[in-house]
Amino acid sequence: MSASDRWWLAHPDTISPVIQTVVEGTGSIDVDALWSAVTAVATACPDTALRHTRKAWLAGGTPPRVRVVHGAADGTAVAGIDALHDPLPTPDGAWCEVLLCPGDPAAVVFRASHAVMDWPGMALWIADVFRVLRGEAPLGAADATTEDDIFDRFPAPAEKPPSPKIEWVSPLGQPSGSRRTAWARRTVDGYHRGLVAQVAAALTTAYELPSARFAVAFDLRRHVPGVRSTGNLSQVELFDCTAGAPWETFHEQVLTAMAEGREVSSRLDSGLLKLPRPILRTLVKAMEKGPADKRRYASATVVAHLGRIEPGSLCTDGFEARTLYPVPLLTAGSPPDLNLVECGGRTELTLTWRDGDGAAERMGAVLDTVTEALSPRRSRDWDGNTTSAAADPATVVQRLRQVVAQRPGAEAVRWPGGSLTFAELDARSEVVAARLLELGIGRDDVVGLFADRSMWAIIGMWGVLKAGAAYLPLDVQHPDARLAGLLTDAAARVCLVQDKYAGRSVTGPGCTVVLLSELATEGVPDVGVTPAPGDLAYVIYTSGSTGKPKGVEIEHAALANYVDWTTSRFGCGPDTAFAVFTSLAFDLSNTALFTPMLAGGTLVLVPDEPNHLTLRHLLEHSGADTLSLTPSHLDLIGQLDLDPAGFKVLVVVGEQLRSAVAARARAMFGPGCRVLNMYGPTEATVGLTLHECTAADDAAPAVPVGLPMDNCTVHLLDPQRRFVAAGEIGEMYLGGAQLARGYRNRPDLTSERFVHLADGTRVYRTGDLARVLPGGELEFIGRADDQVKVNGYRIEPAEIAHVLQRHPAVRAAVVVARTRPGAEHKQLHGYVVLEPGAEAADWDAFLGEHLPRYMVPSATTVIDAVPHNANGKVDVAALPDPHAAHAATGPAVTASGDEVRLAVARVWASTLSLDEARLDEAADFHHLGGNSVQLLAMLAGVCRDVVGAGAERAFMAELGSIIREPTLERVSDIARQARDGAPMAVPAAG
Ligand code: AMP
Repeated sequence: MSASDRWWLAHPDTISPVIQTVVEGTGSIDVDALWSAVTAVATACPDTALRHTRKAWLAGGTPPRVRVVHGAADGTAVAGIDALHDPLPTPDGAWCEVLLCPGDPAAVVFRASHAVMDWPGMALWIADVFRVLRGEAPLGAADATTEDDIFDRFPAPAEKPPSPKIEWVSPLGQPSGSRRTAWARRTVDGYHRGLVAQVAAALTTAYELPSARFAVAFDLRRHVPGVRSTGNLSQVELFDCTAGAPWETFHEQVLTAMAEGREVSSRLDSGLLKLPRPILRTLVKAMEKGPADKRRYASATVVAHLGRIEPGSLCTDGFEARTLYPVPLLTAGSPPDLNLVECGGRTELTLTWRDGDGAAERMGAVLDTVTEALSPRRSRDWDGNTTSAAADPATVVQRLRQVVAQRPGAEAVRWPGGSLTFAELDARSEVVAARLLELGIGRDDVVGLFADRSMWAIIGMWGVLKAGAAYLPLDVQHPDARLAGLLTDAAARVCLVQDKYAGRSVTGPGCTVVLLSELATEGVPDVGVTPAPGDLAYVIYTSGSTGKPKGVEIEHAALANYVDWTTSRFGCGPDTAFAVFTSLAFDLSNTALFTPMLAGGTLVLVPDEPNHLTLRHLLEHSGADTLSLTPSHLDLIGQLDLDPAGFKVLVVVGEQLRSAVAARARAMFGPGCRVLNMYGPTEATVGLTLHECTAADDAAPAVPVGLPMDNCTVHLLDPQRRFVAAGEIGEMYLGGAQLARGYRNRPDLTSERFVHLADGTRVYRTGDLARVLPGGELEFIGRADDQVKVNGYRIEPAEIAHVLQRHPAVRAAVVVARTRPGAEHKQLHGYVVLEPGAEAADWDAFLGEHLPRYMVPSATTVIDAVPHNANGKVDVAALPDPHAAHAATGPAVTASGDEVRLAVARVWASTLSLDEARLDEAADFHHLGGNSVQLLAMLAGVCRDVVGAGAERAFMAELGSIIREPTLERVSDIARQARDGAPMAVPAAG
């Protein structure tokens, strides 16, 4: 038992200090499980079950009890809970106890008499209880080191430092009335440098004192490395803060004291504390009474920074902790007490005082001043976020039914050579829904959808939605192994398959295949399932940096909000014909899938992969008037010799839109066509900010991403999660109605990326950097991480590296995205270090079995070792450039061959900005840095300059062969044969 333990013990029960910590979150904890965990931890952390003799604490006292108590349902878990005022020890002699407060939020309150525990000690106890609740072993904190033991390790200073003169202060004013402990809590965004000093400076201002003294708490454990004790090992030191002085001055004082170890060198005179307890008790009473009666204290406030605690460490199966904050019970003579905890990207401030009339108002205002100093309102509030609008509660299923009733005979979907009316679509999708219901599919089930851009995909999608389930679109171009992995990951029990893909092996034993064409075309009465706004509508997978794609779960309410604002902003109505040529597994396609039809308009399917012929047909002859596409595709269109007709809206989304590309599109599509730049990740339902392009954008290199749309918000935070000042660059955190539920079956990833702001707003952390321009719109700046976009496809290079690493010959792998000198686009380069004695493999073939084509690096090179820089990160600059031989600086190879090859080489050179003299016949378009969109531009150029209009269909019919072997020689041969009308030669095997 240390001297200060005795001091606390000498307090009568009614004024004994109790430290209490609230762990607040969502979900529930079983009271018996909690009791078992607390009891188990009482052995690992013996200080939680102590008894004492006159001089010593002994293990084996009464273990903490667990009580279920109910608070007021006002959004704070512990409001109105009287048990927080109960003294400790409990009547049965326990010095610690635990309260379970069910509700939403729910809370667990850990309570301990200050005689047995301090704050850092309680943090160890709490973490162990949650460990045991999760089924892990407690780390324990059984060290019996006392404060006196620590003092004994440090020699007393030769000269005792003068005790500071006590200057009594009354920060509370002189309130009368109840003297119960009262609290106020505020949460501010982010972690703040010099937090204690910033808080002390703000408190000095708030108390309107010319100078204020603060008692700052220090944890003595830092002087005993490795000690694990829950005991009382904290001390306070006094520091003065002058009003108006920069907080850094106070910070310096505190740091200097820490550097000197002042808290262990200025030991209290413990002789006094060794007095017999009855005498000490009388003394304590007298000392507590004076300040309490007069409301004058030896310091303005006790300030304790309790450190950083991640909510993830306080979760169990059914309970997700959101935050943790202290609510101590103060002794009568204690000055106000301000406790600070950093938790989940936010800072919790709890100000505690002994109450009195008017004190709550005064202390609330004080806390507001401190909050404002840390997180100024002008940075938090941005006009752009005033977006709230009435939301239509109807889901897309209800809306479709309304359109079917109003316009049964209107064209819902069309494609070259066919169409479906709303009535036909309704009937056929109803059959699908009926079959799914028969199979037991329902709410929140995921159903795979394996179909290409044909009516089968649309019928299947609506069928799944009408069954109340969620669809998972699978891209038929992706390898089977990957698709099978997605279906398993999503736990899909059924997969709807279009006939022509029946032979592919994407489903495992647990997944029933339903062939879409085998379902009757009509004759089923309405199945009548109406999904609720909170039900899942779809799951779309995106690249995952941990090596596995992650499934984004979108609920109906989010989708309906997106459809609402896109309908009004894009001006969609019954006349709209919205075309889609992008993969249906790509969320940008959802705009076309839902918005036009639900406005009574038509979805125009472009079944073929985009190339200049399909694009020409689409833009000049399809009758479509609205299109959503990536900037890469828009750039390609701008390079083609096209004459678009009748387009009203182009929605560009998926990557940064360069002004030059937007300007070219405006000129090409004419003044009747609006070009819109939309921004958004899959996790926020396709898009949530919008900017309409005008000539005024041309001055900057890139077009702004605009403003958040209805019921959506954007918050710019720095790496410490503080709001940035106006105009500064911050990471975009997105809030509002369109946020995903999370990542399918990945609660860890979900809580890492979907977090909460201090005001409770749920936000998605994008990794995108942006700033607010002087004109008030958002400008996209780039990424804060390694994620890249290639032709609008979202790629985590780490996912590709993980796949490479699975190859038996590979010891280590890295994949980086690089921009070659002179090139505009990023290229993926893979690097592998081989296992000893292993041989290089056909990496492209291996990767192609597991990843979509766009994720296969343009080259994968064997290296001896992965170079790292001083920070331990991969040193990208030190990795060899696999295409250096072909780079503009490489040796010239005189282009040779007939006029066709020379002409093709000229097209390649202009597409890739290379010197044509460096292209030999073996030159490979991808290895030269060309991506798939540039390949299409190159082919269009070859058709124009070499093949001629009459033969371009024959040439383009060989697209598959060119994609497999994109060499100058092969392209030239095909061009020559097409032009001359010769039969196409089959390339030699291998
Ligand atoms: P995805 O989930 O595939 O839609 O990709 C989302 C990411 O694409 C965002 O986080 C951004 O990095 C990028 N992105 C989407 N739209 C835009 C845009 N208009 N401008 C810049 N980047 C964009």
